[in-house]
Amino acid sequence: MDNFEVGIIGAGIVGSFAFNMLTQKGIKVCLMEAGADVCDGGATKANSAIIHAGYDCIPGTKKAFYNVRGNAMYEEIAKRLGEKCYKTGSLVVAGKDGLDGLKELYNRGIANGVPGLKILNKDELKKLEPNLSDDICYGLYAKTAKLVSPYNFAISLCEEAIINGGILKLNYKVDKICKNNGIFEVKSGKNAVFCKYLINCAGAGCAEINKLIGAEKLDITLTKGEYVLLDKTEGSLVSMPIFPLPTAKGKGILVLPTVSGNLLCGPTARDIKTFETSVSPEGVSEIKEKTTPMVSGLNFKKAIKLYAGVRVKCGQDFVIGFSKKVPNFYITAGISSPGLASSPAIAQQIVDDLIKSGLKVRQKTWKLRKPYTNVAGLYKTELNALIEKNSKFGQIICRCEGITEGEIEEVLNGPIKPLTIEGIKRRLRPTMGRCQGSFCTPSLINIVANFYKIDPKDVVFRGKTPLIVSKIKEGGIYEN
Ligand SMILES: Cc1cc2nc3c(=O)[nH]c(=O)nc-3n(C[C@H](O)[C@H](O)[C@H](O)COP(=O)(O)OP(=O)(O)OC[C@H]3O[C@@H](n4cnc5c(N)ncnc54)[C@H](O)[C@@H]3O)c2cc1C
Repeated sequence: MDNFEVGIIGAGIVGSFAFNMLTQKGIKVCLMEAGADVCDGGATKANSAIIHAGYDCIPGTKKAFYNVRGNAMYEEIAKRLGEKCYKTGSLVVAGKDGLDGLKELYNRGIANGVPGLKILNKDELKKLEPNLSDDICYGLYAKTAKLVSPYNFAISLCEEAIINGGILKLNYKVDKICKNNGIFEVKSGKNAVFCKYLINCAGAGCAEINKLIGAEKLDITLTKGEYVLLDKTEGSLVSMPIFPLPTAKGKGILVLPTVSGNLLCGPTARDIKTFETSVSPEGVSEIKEKTTPMVSGLNFKKAIKLYAGVRVKCGQDFVIGFSKKVPNFYITAGISSPGLASSPAIAQQIVDDLIKSGLKVRQKTWKLRKPYTNVAGLYKTELNALIEKNSKFGQIICRCEGITEGEIEEVLNGPIKPLTIEGIKRRLRPTMGRCQGSFCTPSLINIVANFYKIDPKDVVFRGKTPLIVSKIKEGGIYEN
């Protein structure tokens, strides 16, 4: 029987941080995720990836509290995990009439305890960001803003927890929860996990999970954010996230570099009824229209990918804390932006609250996770030595991103074995370059099929999405 002290539902960034931090305390934890991988189904896989400084949250809110604290925690954790975390700073920019708006944000930031804020004039802005448009007159610079890869961060947190004894159950969509004699029985089909404490980190599924256990009713709203991702040739147009002044709908449509060197423009804010991530022509037009007045030289002909993420709100603020109706049931809900920035501090709160309520901690020797080999980042002598040991590190599979067969096999042998092409893509970036997988997908299918000893036809991109539908010619990679 699968007995745990704590069960967590949802392996987004909040669930992953909670999983990692509780495991560090020597607590027996099980993380249950509906998708085939960490961050498969929620907001963490598609967002702006900014660890916001915390100036635009209303003072006194949970958002303000956790954002500023979470921001201060990121760099150290990233260093431990071997994750990218670039302290780029960020800018909110405005035209000649925007100074009052920027001052309001500055004052909120001071009230929230954000260090390193400064209002800059046109000359100072041009020195920092030469490609800002000539109509920009003022800017609020926030020194502590950072960029990360949210899903890579979550995967690394889960991998580290797993090598230290945490249990992750993938393809585990919780569909029934009972409580008998103080123990939760958390079911997915015929499978059951038993735990004393249960934490709801289910993102868009948070209301459903509360309903399954008879906890507080949650009213959630969904807002889609569409993005246009530009090629790496455009990645140095700006060096930090460039925001417009925020509106009632959110932080606005921005331009930013990514940790992988691309340029990202978005997100839109479209209210939707059900969770879906299509990108509309209107969304793309709006992105072009809103970003062009801020940054000169944006070249949308260099777009390589369109995608969207969904913000989940539950009122104006985060919902974080024990249920008042179901003892030992903990709720995180409405974790919209700045949820990524806030997540380590939210997880710390969960740990503190559980310990305060009687959960016992134990001393634990903590093993560090070994980051995956990054062939593109090796010196020639290092690479040659590696190829000498394993020639697959000299076999390029993804030409755009320079990913080798050796690296792919390394992630397939990792603590969480990716079951889909998307799982490999998230960890290593094959199919994420200029050609978006046109060249490397067939080789990836073969590598995965060989690794799992399955028919290439059974290799999926994500979920149940097949990659090979039928044979088109003799000698192709699939013959039936
Ligand atoms: C467009 C956009 C831009 C954003 N930009 C930023 C930003 O720059 N900075 C920032 O700080 N924040 C940003 N955010 C917010 C941030 O992405 C979220 O706050 C954060 O990712 C929420 O993480 P989570 O773990 O709560 O939820 P999620 O990432 O949604 O994870 C929930 C998980 O629960 C799983 N699940 C659901 N139901 C079940 C079930 N029944 N059984 C098992 N598992 C289940 C899902 O599959 C999913 O993997 C943005 C959000 C969006 C949409």
